[in-house]
Amino acid sequence: MSSALRGPGAAGGASAGRAPIEVRCPADGRIVGTVPDMSAGQVRAIAAGLRDAQPEWEALGFAGRRRWLAAFRDWLLDNEKRLHELVRDETGKAWGDLAMGEVTPSVDVLNYYLKNGERFLAPWHPRPHSPAMLTKRLTVTYDPHRLVGVITPWNAQLAMQMLDVPAALMAGCAVLTKASEETPLAWNEAVRGWSEDLGAPPVLDVVTGRGETGAAIVDAVDMIQFTGSVETGRRIGVRAAERLIPYSLELGGKDPMVVLADADLDRAVSAAVWGGLYNAGQICVSVERVYVEAPVYDEFVARVAEKVRSLRVGMDAPDEYGTDIGAIATANQLDIIESHVRDAVSKGAKVLVGGGRKEPGQFFEPTVLVDVDHTMDCMRAETFGPTLPIMKVADADEAVRLANDSDFGLAASVFGGDRVRARHVARLIDSGSVNINNAMTNVFQLPVPMGGRRGSGLGSPRLGGAEGIRKYTHPKPVIEERFRLKSELYWYPTTA
Ligand code: NAD
Repeated sequence: MSSALRGPGAAGGASAGRAPIEVRCPADGRIVGTVPDMSAGQVRAIAAGLRDAQPEWEALGFAGRRRWLAAFRDWLLDNEKRLHELVRDETGKAWGDLAMGEVTPSVDVLNYYLKNGERFLAPWHPRPHSPAMLTKRLTVTYDPHRLVGVITPWNAQLAMQMLDVPAALMAGCAVLTKASEETPLAWNEAVRGWSEDLGAPPVLDVVTGRGETGAAIVDAVDMIQFTGSVETGRRIGVRAAERLIPYSLELGGKDPMVVLADADLDRAVSAAVWGGLYNAGQICVSVERVYVEAPVYDEFVARVAEKVRSLRVGMDAPDEYGTDIGAIATANQLDIIESHVRDAVSKGAKVLVGGGRKEPGQFFEPTVLVDVDHTMDCMRAETFGPTLPIMKVADADEAVRLANDSDFGLAASVFGGDRVRARHVARLIDSGSVNINNAMTNVFQLPVPMGGRRGSGLGSPRLGGAEGIRKYTHPKPVIEERFRLKSELYWYPTTA
């Protein structure tokens, strides 16, 4: 059994007396579970167990590890509905958001690294750089970082963990994980499945708790992967630097969408509405602001408003696709969303659709804001909610200037009929990745290394591709002499 799931005090014993954390459903306030608030002592004990198990896992090789990861994939698929019910209970997500946003991408990531992980980490042999080195055989191997930590936020608890855990395990690492204290249930259940139902090697475990528990993970591991807020990311980066361990920070976003006058408006409108409001906007790569060239601004706004008015808000029953916009997962996030709308309105913005909370439960109406500008929080700070502020711009130059007027640089999108011009605009936007006429902005493309710049990420923040698994390894050059040479070029005594 996963040590983390034995309850408070099981590993290290120090959390006896710490009140368990209650998990509430944001849609109706029900308590849907409790988890232990684990101490640093417990984290250290669990980390020690993982560390002990890692060498055997590494020794299994890719074929052996692949078998367990394939079994985990099958387990996720067999348990999809129950996992989705857990996520729904702890987040109030719409069933449609669950269907495409949790088990499906988790399985995609597993399949991707099952298929490609070994190839990405295969040893390779560079050619010596000079004739004088021709007798050397050069090999680069990828050694796992042994014990890694994966800490995630509350917006997509299975998928956020599964963007990283399969790559780390496939690379040969043991993995100590922590989901957000707001939404720990589904990920705990997945790890229970790994250890109890599958009886897989004890190289994946989960701890539960708040920031203090997360900080103890950073102190216990050899590499840390963090997804979450800028403030926490900065703290973790400082601690990782003190410990001199590698780290990867996936932080917030304020993703711009630029709509050029010759864009296919049907497509751009649908992309803005889905890109901005999917998962009630609680996705790091959500469209957070839209800049539209003046000639098509009025029509774009009218069409977006019409579509957004038709969206249904509420809590779905399992397997029922009755709503489009689910709950806001945390009370704090709901306050932030509301404050951004209030701030915009107080500075002259107009609410075209929505604009307020929808009660009972932690819901926010899908909202369209116009007459917005960059003095407003909704255009510069991360809202992470179902809001779409739309701004008219004179031309593409102004759109690019405003798109780059942000501390964040995660993703961006450009819609335009002239591909050459759209690509040019895309190149000028300072973001980690950019979409051109791609209406599925919230879907990670696994073969490419996704990640943020500036306030959106630091370290080796890459998900997907070879980079997404190599970050869990140390590239280790092996330099071997191929012949029994009598002398080497640089031996003493020095000669002219
Ligand atoms: P958060 O930073 O408050 O918490 C994230 C996780 O870190 C939680 O598990 C928390 O318990 C833990 N934590 C808190 N303090 C810690 C510390 N000192 N040391 C170690 N761990 C600590 O973030 P949140 O509010 O849960 O999530 C929302 C944020 O996540 C948003 O800013 C969003 O943009 C970001 N996010 C980014 C991505 C991405 O890929 N770039 C994806 C999803 C969410």
